[in-house]
Amino acid sequence: MLNIGSHISSAKGYEAMGKQALKLGASTFAFFTRNPRGGSAKKIRPEDAKAFRELWKNQGYGVIVAHAPYTLNACSDKEEVRRFAREAFASDLERMEYTPGNYYNFHPGSHVGQGAEEGIRQIARMLNQCLKEEQTTTVLLETMAGKGSELGRNFQEIRAILDQVELSGKMGVCLDTCHVWDAGYNIVDCLDEVLEEFDAVIGLNRLKAVHINDSMNPMGSHKDRHARIGEGTIGLEAFGRIVRHPKLRGLPFILETPNDDAGWAEEIALLREMAG
Ligand code: FE
Ligand code: FE
Ligand code: ZN
Repeated sequence: MLNIGSHISSAKGYEAMGKQALKLGASTFAFFTRNPRGGSAKKIRPEDAKAFRELWKNQGYGVIVAHAPYTLNACSDKEEVRRFAREAFASDLERMEYTPGNYYNFHPGSHVGQGAEEGIRQIARMLNQCLKEEQTTTVLLETMAGKGSELGRNFQEIRAILDQVELSGKMGVCLDTCHVWDAGYNIVDCLDEVLEEFDAVIGLNRLKAVHINDSMNPMGSHKDRHARIGEGTIGLEAFGRIVRHPKLRGLPFILETPNDDAGWAEEIALLREMAG
């Protein structure tokens, strides 16, 4: 069975997220660790995290994929923005230990004119300051559309970050279908070749999760506007090949489509059916 889910609101806590995910027919899900456009975090109730862990274990389900706030930019040209990134990241990794063994995905960042090389160095520095030998969380770098000065716009930039991380065993990659398409990777006509390139540059063993989104814009547009599955420029047939691809089998697929609960439940059912 395809391992798939959507983003779930974390407003009511972990157990509520788990129950909501089950209601949508999901076997995994994503959630923001803190206000995605601000940065404040709610206090975690340990008994709530425990109730979720039990619920999830009883279902026999696996990893969930947390998402860092969008405001987290480890390679800003402003020290106070970099400090927020470092502090929020370190605090999120501590919070993640209430649900051990899961994934924490973040956008590498925008270098805002400092240049890719300096940006990559700053991202790796934050990771080297925050990653801990004893953490059970795997941190995922998300592939980006390359809007503005976003890093992670190609596989080489992701690889360059990984190469500078000391505890690189704690690191993985999340492939966002809308982002790689907008970045110029032709996952519609050449999915095999794109995955071969991922393997050659990064290594498929690093690929831990997929964000499954259609795109409102053509390949190479560097825009990052998500569309519902089958309603964008990637299209339903390509998603069929994606969810059936042997190299992607078993990975958690996360929907970040502009949708409501009913729409996500439909997309989950549709993609499961297409996966066979
Ligand atoms: Fe993201
Ligand atoms: Fe994404
Ligand atoms: Zn996006």
